[in-house]
Amino acid sequence: MTIGIVGAGQLGRMLALAGYPLGLDFLFLDRSADVPAAVLAPVVAGEFTDRALLRRLARRCEVLSFDWENISVSALRVATRGLRTRLSPPLRALATGQDRLAEKRLFERLRIPTTRYATVGSRAALERACAQIGLPGVLKTRRLGYDGKGQALVRRRADIGAAWEALGGVPLLYEEFIDFELEVSALGTRALDGSEALYPLTRNWHAGGMLRLSVAPWEAPGLERQARAHLRAVLRDFSYVGTLALEFFVRRGRLIANELAPRVHNSGHWTIEGAVTSQFENHLRAIAGLPLGRTAATGHAAMVNLIGRMPPAAAVLAQPGVHLHDYGKSERPGRKLGHCTLVAASAAERDRRARKLLRALAQSLSPAQAQAGAP
Ligand code: AMP
Repeated sequence: MTIGIVGAGQLGRMLALAGYPLGLDFLFLDRSADVPAAVLAPVVAGEFTDRALLRRLARRCEVLSFDWENISVSALRVATRGLRTRLSPPLRALATGQDRLAEKRLFERLRIPTTRYATVGSRAALERACAQIGLPGVLKTRRLGYDGKGQALVRRRADIGAAWEALGGVPLLYEEFIDFELEVSALGTRALDGSEALYPLTRNWHAGGMLRLSVAPWEAPGLERQARAHLRAVLRDFSYVGTLALEFFVRRGRLIANELAPRVHNSGHWTIEGAVTSQFENHLRAIAGLPLGRTAATGHAAMVNLIGRMPPAAAVLAQPGVHLHDYGKSERPGRKLGHCTLVAASAAERDRRARKLLRALAQSLSPAQAQAGAP
């Protein structure tokens, strides 16, 4: 069976790596042929909005999926019309994941608590939103935001002008700033027959809007119960097929939904080594119409993103039990280049080894600075 994937970034690459043992073949579409998945499968190069190209891709695949959400829903719909090619996850989930307002409305409809917000289309509307929702708050573009891009923090009234200057001109959303205790994500997969496989709760640390570190399982039974109920509600509402992630803030012990990703997710990379079946394999099993695999954790995992500069492989691999994933991308500040994962026998051992790994990574990237800053 050939799986077509629109987008050939690191998520596509890890999907292909998980899919070859299952006997699946892959074909990608991306803007350039110089992309992380290109070493694994052919890449059709062209625009994500090119209907003729998407149709050519769709004709050559049994199932069409995507590895990021900023692609054209209408082009995908037209490209697959009249073909037997199955589109998974469903377009409604893709359309929702592209638009922060649609996400908020979904959360509200499913009674999933989310941040208070107001839509913003003008500077005056931003002033009104700040008065109505309060300060501090975060101004976000409704579309095309990822990894903290398209966001501006509004701490006080004096910041309104700069936030509007930075983002104004496209549809925006202003939401309350959540002074959260922690951030968690819930990941799960739903199969064609409606069966579900949900992963243990993951705790995430972001800096500058980008995910830096995830640990799982995050043992907080009350939170996990709430998160699973919300995840199930979303999966069922979409009649979803594939893997989906929900990100939450936790404030005073309660979940507040931040956003959803209708795809495999960075906070689920630990599942490659840390769960019986990875999020990538389960996504493929789901969209290929196969039974889902078990999602239980095999230990206590920590996943560290490698951003901007790639440490020498030897420095990472010298850490016992650490696995390296190099996406084959060129270095650029703020770019996700790879990640590494360790799996420990206990949460305490995981935390100890994760701290050691973070120190080793900092030292390998700038030895002088790391030594100067060392206690
Ligand atoms: P997002 O792109 O919406 O997932 O935002 C990326 C990260 O920025 C989140 O994971 C948080 O760490 C932070 N962030 C975004 N929105 C808010 C908010 N309303 N309150 C506090 N932190 C936020």
